[in-house]
Amino acid sequence: MEQLHRFSETIPPTRSSEAATQRRQRPRLRQSPLHFTLLLLSLILLFTTIPNGASAYKPLSDNFLRQIPAADDGDFDIHTGQLLAPILIPRVPGTEGQRQVQQHFVSFFRKNLPKWEIIWQNSTSTTPATGDRQIPFANLIFRRTPPWTKPGQSGLLTLVAHYDSKMKPEGFIGAIDSAAPCAVLMHAAKSIDGYLTQMHDEMVKLGEGGTPEMDMGVQILLLDGEEAFVDWTDTDSLYGARSLAQKWENTPYPAKSKYQNPLRQISLFVLLDLLGTANSVVPSYFLTTHWAYKAMAAVESRMRRLGLLQSKPTRGAFLPEADKTADRFYPVGMGDDHVPFMYRGAPVLHLIPSPFPMGIWHTLNDDGAHLDMPTVKDWAKIVTGFALEWLDMMEVEPEEAGTTKEKSGKAR
Ligand SMILES: [Zn+2]
Repeated sequence: MEQLHRFSETIPPTRSSEAATQRRQRPRLRQSPLHFTLLLLSLILLFTTIPNGASAYKPLSDNFLRQIPAADDGDFDIHTGQLLAPILIPRVPGTEGQRQVQQHFVSFFRKNLPKWEIIWQNSTSTTPATGDRQIPFANLIFRRTPPWTKPGQSGLLTLVAHYDSKMKPEGFIGAIDSAAPCAVLMHAAKSIDGYLTQMHDEMVKLGEGGTPEMDMGVQILLLDGEEAFVDWTDTDSLYGARSLAQKWENTPYPAKSKYQNPLRQISLFVLLDLLGTANSVVPSYFLTTHWAYKAMAAVESRMRRLGLLQSKPTRGAFLPEADKTADRFYPVGMGDDHVPFMYRGAPVLHLIPSPFPMGIWHTLNDDGAHLDMPTVKDWAKIVTGFALEWLDMMEVEPEEAGTTKEKSGKAR
């Protein structure tokens, strides 16, 4: 915050949170040419060292972390939970289960999160298991951008999981692969929605917008056709992700748009996969996005310190590699939905345990009963906290719980 004061001396505080106003007001350039040059240089430096419009955001306060809603059984019970239970069915592309789960996602957003744009991206492909028949794949994109932004103006935090399930073994559910991650993302969307509305409303009132930080948005990709139908190969896997990455690369925005195409709008591609068993450890895979891993690991460890998480992982954390040094990163060749996006330059944070949960992964044991609920709920909280922080929600920090009454009491 300090470094912003020099820009804000001429700006009258226009709302209760003076700090927040300073944070978002565009700097006024009324200084000498030398100052101007220095400022320009530092701005250039800023935008070349921070990837793709990601902002140097302010960490959430302890108070804010405490107020992140817990994921409860109402959402996550494996039989009755509104978010998770409807996904725990076989949902192989081209089957009724696939259509049911798609409808579940769409009706959830329509009903509960009407400000999120819903985009279907459809493709078809043959597979080695289904002969000449064209199998339908449908990626679902749920996107929320600030109301003042034009297409191609908003950098998008992109939270991703796949929703299809494996064809074999028959009856395979795929609870960690990736029903639970899908439900975690729905929960995150629900939890950040109100804050987004509040922030957008305040910014509209102040006539703000127009910088990468102010124009940030978020999208959730629920991808289809991740699983191989027979054996994992370049052509029998990632049906949805391959189609979407290619489509986005080939869909240019009008000339002079901030971002060239929807692929370039991805400020960070956060992929959740195989999450929901106890004691799984997610390493930091990529040096280029280790900064983002560290940010999420910090959210996790702060939440644990504050007693806000329920799980007790043996390694002490889901994300234990915040201190990994640069010389310990090696090339990773793990096939997953991020690959077609990463090839095209998107920065990726891959949240997948290593090793994969053995005895569960790709077996009939990967069902609701084998989920570790404290783990699933904690992931929902951590991802929500990370998204809130990324989107700079300290701007609309809620009042400390229990202090509202006292404050208004004093005012009277
Ligand atoms: Zn799988």
